[in-house]
Amino acid sequence: MDEQLNVLPCGYFVLTSDWEFVEMNQTMRNILCIEEIPRHMHDILTVPSKVYFQTYFIPAISVHGEVREMYLNLKVEKRPVPVLMNVNERNGRYEGVIVQIKVRDEYENQLLQSKKDAERIQKETDVAYNKLLGLLQEVENKQQQLLELNGELQELATRDELTGLFNRRVFRKSLDAAIDRAQLFDSYSFSLLLFDIDHFKKVNDTYGHQVGDDVLKELARKLEQMVDVPDIIARIGGEEFAIIYDDPNHQNNIKKAEELRRYLEESVWASIAITVSMGITTFTCGDTSSHIYVRADDAQYTSKRNGRNQLTSI
Ligand code: GH3
Ligand code: MG
Ligand code: MG
Repeated sequence: MDEQLNVLPCGYFVLTSDWEFVEMNQTMRNILCIEEIPRHMHDILTVPSKVYFQTYFIPAISVHGEVREMYLNLKVEKRPVPVLMNVNERNGRYEGVIVQIKVRDEYENQLLQSKKDAERIQKETDVAYNKLLGLLQEVENKQQQLLELNGELQELATRDELTGLFNRRVFRKSLDAAIDRAQLFDSYSFSLLLFDIDHFKKVNDTYGHQVGDDVLKELARKLEQMVDVPDIIARIGGEEFAIIYDDPNHQNNIKKAEELRRYLEESVWASIAITVSMGITTFTCGDTSSHIYVRADDAQYTSKRNGRNQLTSI
């Protein structure tokens, strides 16, 4: 063989029409790691490449007389070596060259590995994202629970458990706020009404404590019907209640209190009918909360002493 062909920077070979080697240059033998020229094309191919050679190469060269850039694996010391092969038919023989594509193969493997890594990272990101969504949902649930608990706490702090009316604490704060406002603004005033159920002990003694509770709850609903915002109703003791009438006109407040007393006396009761004794007073300049409270309480006591089921104004 021509020395120049022997040292070409690619494998060079010539095959018979039966795919037997006639020639093979040194470069190709170096790639194959052999000294002797093998007999048949099959001798240098891996099993899958043999099948490929048989099913694609032979039909293609028969039809076109040439094959370009066919990817094959050569069998070199029992390991596959990827190559690209070009073959031309010339005078009933086949002349071919092969180029090792080790670098490209490694590059493709790296690409494949990078793709796998990217897919794995994507998967991990998805998992982390879903976990984050779960955590966010959990935080939202906890926040909702916290809001509900705060609501319940607020309720517990401000409402009387049995009747749902404002408790004594809210009453005290509202009374202080009304006094502050009345001291600040000459045009503002308010009235304080205290009332207490008449002979309530007898209700409990006659019908039992549960019926007594039902009466208290029914009274609370009736009070809510009769008293409008911004007036404040509160249960300040066992069967003692207070209303802060947010109106500077004391006569109006007396009228409203009397209407309430009469309504309680005359309306139909699902539990047991009761009456109340009331005392009302209005804010006067310099009043502290205990001044005004004591006056209203005295007025209520007067109502009790004078026969109950009545309103006294001081
Ligand atoms: P008066 O007309 O002088 O006010 O007589 P009274 O019987 O209403 O007065 P007294 O203070 O002697 O009794 C109040 C009763 O109210 C005593 C108590 O058992 C009852 N009571 C207080 N709180 C509750 C409650 O939450 N439920 C029930 N069922 N009874 C209560
Ligand atoms: Mg009482
Ligand atoms: Mg009573």
